[in-house]
Amino acid sequence: MHAERRPFIGGNWKMNSDLASAVELAEAVVAALGPAGAAPHALEETVDAAVFPPFPYLQAVGRALGHSAVMLGGQDCSAEASGAFTGQVSADMLCDLGCRSVIIGHSERRHGLGEDDALLHQKLAIALESGLAAVLCVGETLSERDEGRAEGVVRAQLRGCFGTLTAETVERAVVAYEPVWAIGTGRTASPADAQRMHAAIRHELGSLYDSRFAAKARVIYGGSVNAKNARAIFDQPDVDGGLIGGASLKAGDFASICRAAAEAWSATGGH
Ligand code: PEP
Repeated sequence: MHAERRPFIGGNWKMNSDLASAVELAEAVVAALGPAGAAPHALEETVDAAVFPPFPYLQAVGRALGHSAVMLGGQDCSAEASGAFTGQVSADMLCDLGCRSVIIGHSERRHGLGEDDALLHQKLAIALESGLAAVLCVGETLSERDEGRAEGVVRAQLRGCFGTLTAETVERAVVAYEPVWAIGTGRTASPADAQRMHAAIRHELGSLYDSRFAAKARVIYGGSVNAKNARAIFDQPDVDGGLIGGASLKAGDFASICRAAAEAWSATGGH
């Protein structure tokens, strides 16, 4: 963590839950992160927390979040604004439902559905134009890491996705470093490996934009983060929070991860 960058913790619920359990989970997250759940400050005041439920449950989860500071987000959006795109959901539709954030380029879409940097560039552009705080995921596969290409792959993803977007446009973006081999596998990058890649990402952002932009940009880590390992990762100077999959499905674990981020941030003098 760094004192100048407020932590961001996202809970990616993926294709889990049903309507009733999604609402229940949202209510439990609000209870755990809101004024009643934490002392001396509500966690939602210290950490930018967001939940990303499945599309059909967005409205109900949004209602359950009520006036809490926990943000609602979509797990993806279309690269198109509107029209004949069966099954897709536009960034404006997400905004209409009260979303303030959206995940772009999750590895389950890059590798599972073949989404490439050119498409993700368009999605990122339209999401940011709509006013959403886009969480752009980047990360290498295990074979790319074993071949010593991890950093090159991630830097190329950043260049491909940010492309020609201006610093002003991408101000609202958060970058999530999610090594593909660590997602849902129980394997996490070591805090030192995560720090090395986060520093490289910040360096690339500096080359794409400038050092002031890079110093302000939030770069979060994702990949089997849980209540036990979160603090060691968040203590790294270039790690500004996390994108959490499995552990975000339990409100208590999600709150513990938010608390770890708040404590790591507070240790740097941030508040
Ligand atoms: C994710 O899906 O973004 C993720 C990091 O999942 P998990 O925490 O389950 O590895």
